Amino acid sequence: MSRHEGVSCDSCLKSNFRGKRYKCLICYDYDLCATCYEAGATTTRHTTDHAVQCIITRSDFDIFYGGEAISAEQPQSVSCPYCSKMGFTEAVLQEHVAAEHADISVEVVCPICASLPGGDPNHVTDDFAAHLTLEHRTPREFISFVIIIVSSWPDHAIF
Ligand SMILES: [Zn+2]
Ligand SMILES: [Zn+2]
Ligand SMILES: [Zn+2]
Ligand SMILES: [Zn+2]
Repeated sequence: MSRHEGVSCDSCLKSNFRGKRYKCLICYDYDLCATCYEAGATTTRHTTDHAVQCIITRSDFDIFYGGEAISAEQPQSVSCPYCSKMGFTEAVLQEHVAAEHADISVEVVCPICASLPGGDPNHVTDDFAAHLTLEHRTPREFISFVIIIVSSWPDHAIF
């Protein structure tokens, strides 16, 4: 079944709970069950100001959507770890972080790695914008990234 194996709620300490899991993107390895998240549970580490990523397992997708034709490739909505806004796709989050949070260097957990099946659930980075570019870039953005480097080349090629 689709329990979150090995994951327990850091507030009520229930383990292997079903359904949605809310992972804090500020506290390392901190998860809440839906009940505690919705109740606004806090601890000495965690406050409701922290950004969280909602994670639904593949098999829970099947339960929630009755096994209908929703593909596992359907992008999960991603939260911004800096401002707690939810509902980004990976590509939109990259643009958002580059535009809004380019100067921040606070350690955060990558919400995309955390919600990827088989991804590292606790990938901490202090340069999230660079991590997004390196690890989660899409082909279209990769191409424009190369064009920017190539077109700015002469300015930097001072020998
Ligand atoms: Zn709980
Ligand atoms: Zn937290
Ligand atoms: Zn943001
Ligand atoms: Zn990542």
